[in-house]
Amino acid sequence: MLAIATPDLEELRMTGSRGAPARTAPVAAPVTVTGLAQRQAWRARELPPVEEVRSGVWSVPVTIPDNPLRYTLAYLLLSDTGAVVVDPGWDHERGWEDLMAGFAAAGLPADRVTGIVVTHVHLDHHGLSRRLSEGSGAPIAMHAAEVDALPSRIREATESDAMQTWLARCGAPADVMADFNSDLAEMLGVFRLAEPDVLLNDGDALDLPGRRVRVVWTPGHTPGHICLHDADHDVLLTGDHLLPRISPNIGLTPGSKDAPLASYLDSLRALGGYDSAEALPAHEYRFRGIAGRAGTLIEHHDVRAREVLDVIAASDYATVWDVTTRLTWSRGWDQINGFMRRAALFETAAHIQYLEQEGRLAIRAGAPGEPDRLEVLPVIPPGG
Ligand SMILES: [Zn+2]
Ligand SMILES: [Zn+2]
Repeated sequence: MLAIATPDLEELRMTGSRGAPARTAPVAAPVTVTGLAQRQAWRARELPPVEEVRSGVWSVPVTIPDNPLRYTLAYLLLSDTGAVVVDPGWDHERGWEDLMAGFAAAGLPADRVTGIVVTHVHLDHHGLSRRLSEGSGAPIAMHAAEVDALPSRIREATESDAMQTWLARCGAPADVMADFNSDLAEMLGVFRLAEPDVLLNDGDALDLPGRRVRVVWTPGHTPGHICLHDADHDVLLTGDHLLPRISPNIGLTPGSKDAPLASYLDSLRALGGYDSAEALPAHEYRFRGIAGRAGTLIEHHDVRAREVLDVIAASDYATVWDVTTRLTWSRGWDQINGFMRRAALFETAAHIQYLEQEGRLAIRAGAPGEPDRLEVLPVIPPGG
């Protein structure tokens, strides 16, 4: 069942490539690009250079094979005793060579790695953690809430009848109900992702002697997504939470334990306190203007929420699936195929859950075997 792999493959979606759904009206990001060489490389479709962006902070592009995102920006945080590697990248020989090229540039032998930290467990971030850890003995750390997002943990939940029941309640048609290719998930190494050795929580300091780097928990894209703030250099490693140009997938699935969109919006608001920092993202290029970029993304989801309400209001008791097919997608719904349809459904469902919690719509439970139906609720004025 590829819902397991979807959180990893959804990175494809973020660029709107391959028929992937993406918002129709991307808003101009009010960011100041600081990674000029990175942006130039991005535009030229090349791998950007390895760079020491601050003393002891290295940015290392690691190839993601056959993917429009092209690379993950891993970071090496050097200390007196060794180094922590953040988001080592996709598990592939080419990626490993890229990572080792970064180590060489930084003068860091691979066995001097003292820790591995992942912002979240998607394949393009956490894939190489196992190999790096096995070679160095370094422990792997992630946020405590991210453990449940490991595919090995959610495999059972997503392969069970729960997914089929949930899809039926959404009104999904047979082709979307059909199981996706679990061989692909197997092939991608989804189930080989490493378990953590260390669990992190919001505000924790990384084990980096002589340096002050703290965990900023930013759930939304995944439940245990984290950013990392280096107080001495005032840089914020933003993972996939905040990127300069594209917006990460925020999807609701039957396995979701939290409300992903509400969490994501709260996590964006929480970044307002880091506006002085330079953002070091996991894709694309470095930038400044964290609060402005976060505000743009909040607005972006607000516009989408209004569109969801408009579609429901114009429909006769729409199902979640009806809404998914009637929303605007950058390439047109006809161009969205295969698991991308399910990803689009997850994303629509996240908005519907959010709007229900905000009291803007009602989900009317269907009779057994029938899908749920959606209804817009009248806005009650404050004090009314
Ligand atoms: Zn991701
Ligand atoms: Zn990513």
